Amino acid sequence: MSISNSILKILNMEDENVIFNENFIENRKINNKRVNIFKGYLKNDYEYCPMCGCINDTTIVKNGTKISLIKIPKVSEVASYLELKKQKYKCKMCNKRFTAKTNIVDYRCRISNNTKHSVINYVKDILSNTLIARHHNISNMTVQRIIDRIYDGARIDIRTQNFGHLIKNIVK
Ligand SMILES: [Zn+2]
Repeated sequence: MSISNSILKILNMEDENVIFNENFIENRKINNKRVNIFKGYLKNDYEYCPMCGCINDTTIVKNGTKISLIKIPKVSEVASYLELKKQKYKCKMCNKRFTAKTNIVDYRCRISNNTKHSVINYVKDILSNTLIARHHNISNMTVQRIIDRIYDGARIDIRTQNFGHLIKNIVK
């Protein structure tokens, strides 16, 4: 397995257009905290121009790079970032410029998609009866009974009330 594929596996990301070389990791301080910086390079191989559709033989050429600092989930409990050097291109037929794309992060977003998934999973965990039950060493049924009894059978969802604002923000 190549070093790039190994790192992508560790970071739980899938995009073979992202390449890491042997100096892929660096420790830096951001907001006075030591963080991991994973340094990758993003390129796309175009068969045709995404702007005008012309076949790419030698019409699409490299045109500088752009660096994005993207927040990714913690690695070994250390806050981590992906510093992604994105290849920019220019089409000689239509003269338009564009930047390499990846499924790791949405366009113009600084938070990786797997961070967003992690947030949703975290909230799901907090909200689950199973977690509350495990934490208090009682059954799921007992958790539900306690909630029902406190609210006198009115079936008010205590958890949704507490975290409603959080859910709303995620769904947005
Ligand atoms: Zn073009």
